[in-house]
Amino acid sequence: MSQKNYIWDFFEKSTSDLSKAKCNKCHKLYSLGSSEPKRQTIHGLKLHLSKFHGEENRQYLKRQEKDAEKEEQKLEAKLKRRNQKFQSQQAVLIAAVVANLYKPQFSKWNKQGP
Ligand SMILES: [Zn+2]
Repeated sequence: MSQKNYIWDFFEKSTSDLSKAKCNKCHKLYSLGSSEPKRQTIHGLKLHLSKFHGEENRQYLKRQEKDAEKEEQKLEAKLKRRNQKFQSQQAVLIAAVVANLYKPQFSKWNKQGP
């Protein structure tokens, strides 16, 4: 699952140095730790926002929070669906087990019949 990171509303990746990102507000370059996308971290960018751009940081946190809420709701709905499916599967299983448990008795009763 790839989630958009709202940090990129406030920074843009440097084209001259792939290991750095530029702050949209003060135009300073900040390190992403690596030029390889897989190894990059936005930790320094978050820190920069929280330290120097209070309003932007609030916006950023708000957007992230909203997204997290949406994700949570999605997850809850998914869990609910899975639970319902599981419960119906369980009911079938229980019915099968019960039927199996009473099977020998049924046949015994049948034999003892008149
Ligand atoms: Zn800045």
